[in-house]
Amino acid sequence: MVKRGRKVTIVEESENLGAKILDAHRPKLLAWLTRKGAVMLAGVKYDEITKQGLVIRKNGRRQLIEADTVLTALPPKPNQEFLEELKNKAVEVYQIGDSKEPGLIVDAVGGGSRIGRAV
Ligand SMILES: Cc1cc2nc3c(=O)[nH]c(=O)nc-3n(C[C@H](O)[C@H](O)[C@H](O)COP(=O)(O)OP(=O)(O)OC[C@H]3O[C@@H](n4cnc5c(N)ncnc54)[C@H](O)[C@@H]3O)c2cc1C
Repeated sequence: MVKRGRKVTIVEESENLGAKILDAHRPKLLAWLTRKGAVMLAGVKYDEITKQGLVIRKNGRRQLIEADTVLTALPPKPNQEFLEELKNKAVEVYQIGDSKEPGLIVDAVGGGSRIGRAV
């Protein structure tokens, strides 16, 4: 979005922006974003998305970040309700891959392989 000339604000709940980005890339990326004028706020709580933008809370203070567009990149989480629905529809139901715990391709393939050999 920065490359497309948008005015960008990046917000993050943890105190550590880009914590899971590879060490080889993280400092360069953060420095590049700073150079390009992106605003980066860590340690915020998300209150709500309104027509005006995103309302956050930082250090207990409520604040509106005006925005035309809000892009979410929240951590994925399994849908347990869907699993419960499926349990009533088949004799055996196994939960693997991201539906069990979001991870990497190797975890999903490993889980599929283990269950496939077990049944
Ligand atoms: C942006 C992003 C980047 C990633 N990059 C990497 C990476 O570089 N390396 C890496 O190892 N991992 C990466 N991952 C993680 C990796 O994609 C997942 O761990 C992996 O795809 C999980 O496989 P899965 O089979 O469990 O689920 P998925 O690959 O999500 O497959 C689930 C399938 O079920 C289908 N489905 C869902 N609901 C229904 C339904 N009701 N009926 C029928 N079909 C349905 C979906 O359409 C989908 O095709 C990335 C994930 C994301 C989101």
